[in-house]
Amino acid sequence: SGTLYVVATPIGNLEDLSPRAARVLGDVALVAAEDTRHTARLLRHLGLTVPMLSLHEHNEAARIDQLDERLAGGDSIALVSDAGTPLISDPGFVLVRELRARGRHIVPVPGPCALVAALSGAGLPTDRFLFHGFLPARTTARSRRLEALARREETLVFYESPHRIRETLADIGGVLGARRLVLARELTKAFETFLDGSAEALLARMEADPDQARGEFVIMVAGAEPQQVPEPDDVEAEALLGALLAEGIGV
Ligand code: SAM
Repeated sequence: SGTLYVVATPIGNLEDLSPRAARVLGDVALVAAEDTRHTARLLRHLGLTVPMLSLHEHNEAARIDQLDERLAGGDSIALVSDAGTPLISDPGFVLVRELRARGRHIVPVPGPCALVAALSGAGLPTDRFLFHGFLPARTTARSRRLEALARREETLVFYESPHRIRETLADIGGVLGARRLVLARELTKAFETFLDGSAEALLARMEADPDQARGEFVIMVAGAEPQQVPEPDDVEAEALLGALLAEGIGV
């Protein structure tokens, strides 16, 4: 039977499409694309004419049997999203899960991914990071989610759109305080920018230069300072002291 290739495509700069990705897109019988008009431009750029089928969050579940039949019939399929790596804040998870459960052959063709590009240029710790995709759109839910992350020591990584970048930065400042942030904007494109500073300082930059609020963003936030973990002896001494005090015994 055929193979499902999960193919990463550029996040702005067409030169980032790998030769392997280009070859696979030319070899498959079908390209399953998040937005077929968007992917048509990429295929045209590559000089390819490959049949396409839309696969987005609203029809993903319904497409599974159809794509599975094509694979069973021996056709190979490429899954692509509008930009970057499919399944990373993009459709494809349900399809890959179901096809894998059915024993289909699935091959990733790695390449551009905004979160990896952002981390690789930011200068924040990358040994451990917590990728959180998009925060909730509404400020109450967003702040609650940030509160749940406030004690995490890993670098925090979020995706954000230009519509909400200011509100999100304001909430990050409000909940997480004056931590160091790195904001990666328009990665791989003409106006690629990395800004560094507290949420408040970044908002002031956007106030002074509204162009800084345009485009696509990856927000990276320094993790919390490590918690002081009490030594076991201290824990025992404190428990004993607490017990004595509870008994009303003066010490
Ligand atoms: N699958 C993609 C990937 O591999 O990065 C992410 C898709 S997600 C729907 C789109 C979000 O990714 C944008 O809102 C932005 O946060 C981030 N993003 C995509 N391209 C970017 C770029 N060139 N510069 C900065 N952020 C980008």
